[in-house]
Amino acid sequence: MDCIFCKIIAGEIPAVKVLDEELVIAFMDINPSSKGHMLVVPKNHAENIFEIPESDLATLTKAVKKCAGAVKDALRAEGVTILQLNGKASDQIVPHLHVHVIPRWENDGLSVSTWEMKPGDMEEIQEIALKVKENITPSS
Ligand code: 5GP
Ligand code: ZN
Repeated sequence: MDCIFCKIIAGEIPAVKVLDEELVIAFMDINPSSKGHMLVVPKNHAENIFEIPESDLATLTKAVKKCAGAVKDALRAEGVTILQLNGKASDQIVPHLHVHVIPRWENDGLSVSTWEMKPGDMEEIQEIALKVKENITPSS
């Protein structure tokens, strides 16, 4: 398969790894948005959150927590942004699920989580919530 992250997982192209477990790998992003920016990636190819089996997602989430804690301690980060994109419309570039772990410092100038804080239309918010609720599968 022509997937850059599958190639990194297979060892066919190099990466600066920080974690290598049975189901998850983590390596440094080559275009870091801050010092310590890394990617945590499931080894089984899944394009996005909709494709990954829940058990693999649980394992991935544990690894994200481990990496976020490790980089926070290592670099004395004041915060950590955790970001995961699904689909081109959300700016996903690499179509192999990955979680960005981005160490943050106050006034670091990064703006990955800023949108205009403008009150929404409450009627519309409620209508949307209703539609979403109809599509929620109850937990077993
Ligand atoms: P996204 O798909 O979430 O928008 O971002 C993909 C991320 O993967 C980018 O931050 C980009 O820098 C990183 N990336 C793309 N190709 C490679 C690669 O070959 N090696 C590494 N280490 N990171 C990569
Ligand atoms: Zn892949």
